[in-house]
Amino acid sequence: MRKFNPLKADHPLIQDNIICQACSKPFKEGESTTLVPLGPGADLEAQEQARKGRAYNAVALPVHWACATGYQNCEGLDEME
Ligand SMILES: [Zn+2]
Repeated sequence: MRKFNPLKADHPLIQDNIICQACSKPFKEGESTTLVPLGPGADLEAQEQARKGRAYNAVALPVHWACATGYQNCEGLDEME
């Protein structure tokens, strides 16, 4: 799991209609985030790769770092496996 740098004020995630799916709160400047992979999504090629156990580009949801790991904004490992 990759920890992304704290959001800057002009980051595209900072919008009224975008919320963290884990806590239902909007993203704010200074918050760290990560991407949680969901799966291959509707892409048939990606689905086939997934069935074969091969790497594919997963559909992923952005969530707060704290919501995904339990670590607060500035804590935690920079790279978690
Ligand atoms: Zn959250």
